[in-house]
Amino acid sequence: MTEIVSEASVTSPPQGKIMLVGIGPGSFAQMTHRAVEAIAEADVVIGYVTYIKLVADLLEGKEVIRKGMTEELDRAVHALESAQAGKKVALISSGDAGVYGMAGPTYEVLFQAGWTPDSGVPVEIVPGTSAINACASLVGAPLTHDFCSISLSDLLTPWPVIARRLEAAAAADFVVALYNPKSGRRTQQIEQAQYLFLRHRSPQTPVAVVKSAYRRRQAIVFTTLDKMSDCDIGMLSTVLIGNSNTFVRDGLMVTPRGYANKYDMQGDGSAREGEKRGRSLSTGLLGWMANLHADFAEGISLTQLAQLHHLPADYLELVLRTPLEEEETPGADEAEA
Ligand code: SAH
Repeated sequence: MTEIVSEASVTSPPQGKIMLVGIGPGSFAQMTHRAVEAIAEADVVIGYVTYIKLVADLLEGKEVIRKGMTEELDRAVHALESAQAGKKVALISSGDAGVYGMAGPTYEVLFQAGWTPDSGVPVEIVPGTSAINACASLVGAPLTHDFCSISLSDLLTPWPVIARRLEAAAAADFVVALYNPKSGRRTQQIEQAQYLFLRHRSPQTPVAVVKSAYRRRQAIVFTTLDKMSDCDIGMLSTVLIGNSNTFVRDGLMVTPRGYANKYDMQGDGSAREGEKRGRSLSTGLLGWMANLHADFAEGISLTQLAQLHHLPADYLELVLRTPLEEEETPGADEAEA
């Protein structure tokens, strides 16, 4: 007869775990419920000294490992060793652990050590409010249209790579958040970023410099692109650069969502001529394709069209080869917000 052993009577070793916890910008109120819970659950908490200080109240009775800025890989190795020994380890990052944080290096170290997702040490990433969101919330609504983030840190990224991304983002009219904009040793990067942006954007483009968002020394400065690099910017600042439609009014930086392209915002709010509520713009893909076909049929050359739309000629060729569709069927409304 086989003996039935209930699970509880088997003394399996305690299961370790790695949690990559984003603690948000810095105040307890801006931490997620899960982030607080994950730290509470942890036996070991590992992090950069400043972040450990930010969550000091939650650390009683835990093994705390404070590491310096440049010891990121050590932190990941230590986390793996502790987790293999059955401990629950919280590796804490400010903001979100996956945004210029520990999540990437940790997976790299784990893979190198032969770890796989089902090798007995589970990894949980606890998302947090990243600096871009935290800083945006303090200045108004700068991110309501397409945006991107670029780190000016050349500690691990060659400058030409960073400069090319700045150039591309500036040309494409993204709202941009600059992370790691300046430090004691890195002071020229922000000036060069400014130069690259001024080639594409008005000197009056709104810029907000947010320092220590949701921390004790929080400071917010509104400026313009031409004066951006004269501002007091440091390691704890994020710089938000508006797009060509961003404006500042009554101390609020706002990027329009595009409602004014479609609706009469001054009058009764009805759709503008040629536009329909819940449908793509007349200059949306289908409307634009129809116009492109018509322009081409009228004899405007591919090269001219490419110049006019700032788009590659081979892409326009593809569009011109694509048959025009009938009007969308009515009733398939989409949300615009
Ligand atoms: N993982 C973090 C980013 C780490 S990189 C996140 O998701 O936010 C460090 C950079 O983040 C800093 O140089 C600064 O640009 C930005 N940053 C982090 N915390 C900030 C805060 N409280 N206020 C303003 N910027 C902050």
